[in-house]
Amino acid sequence: TDPIDPTDPAGPTAPDAAAQSDALLRVRGLKKSFGPNQVLQSIELTVGRGQVLALIGPSGSGKTTILRCLNGLELADGGTIDVAGEVSLDFGTPPTKKQLAALRDRSAMVFQHYNLFPHKTVLENVLEGPVVVQRRPKDEVTAEALALLDRVGLSSKRDSYPFELSGGQQQRVGIVRALALRPQLLLFDEPTSSLDPELVGDVLRLIKELALEGWSMVIVTHELEFAREVATEVAFVDGGRIVEHGDPKQVLRHPKEERTRQFLHRLL
Ligand code: ADP
Repeated sequence: TDPIDPTDPAGPTAPDAAAQSDALLRVRGLKKSFGPNQVLQSIELTVGRGQVLALIGPSGSGKTTILRCLNGLELADGGTIDVAGEVSLDFGTPPTKKQLAALRDRSAMVFQHYNLFPHKTVLENVLEGPVVVQRRPKDEVTAEALALLDRVGLSSKRDSYPFELSGGQQQRVGIVRALALRPQLLLFDEPTSSLDPELVGDVLRLIKELALEGWSMVIVTHELEFAREVATEVAFVDGGRIVEHGDPKQVLRHPKEERTRQFLHRLL
């Protein structure tokens, strides 16, 4: 083939070639119902490598369900999820256990309520996924876990139990636990909304550092200022659809859609 033939999809001039190889996560037509309640209508989203997508929108609009479908914690009813061109699931037919496990392995979730195991120490919480699920060598994972705990200022808490920690400390353990899984994609579900106001800043700063280091992320958040600063793209979700998405400044300051405007107006 002529190397500059624009009709050759693999050729160097194919318009989408760069964008496609860059995409870490591609979601098309994702649908999810709980009984008669269709909570995701047809979600389309793309996250490039090193990009941060913030999902904003009213309570009950489907944001958490999007994250849970991405992580295989909920099974979508239709549509496709592709991670790095390596794991591709079409939910038109139910995935096998192996396919779901492959999807789960690509991302790690940080939960609103931290979801640490209450009867395990901080270190045991971090080791659980990599050692038990991923079956990586315990000494190697332990060294990595201790370095991560040190990074977030929690080395001295390695043998403490979650109830002995503040909310901010527990959430930093939640983030370390996610990082220790070495995921390609970090998923944050309102990571600061259970925290006392004075503890929010530390956790947001840590997430921002991770974004600057190049981690790819999807973050559900009500912290609009944080979204504007850290996200590379903001998507406004309402009624199980992405109503509008784009540059954070544009979506948050000059939204095109009336529904986005109303939502932002209520928060100001
Ligand atoms: P958001 O994160 O935007 O607040 P969610 O994704 O949590 O929204 O919820 C979207 C809708 O799905 C809500 O109406 C919620 O009640 C419903 N829902 C979420 N999880 C379940 C579930 N496990 N069973 C039944 N309904 C659910």
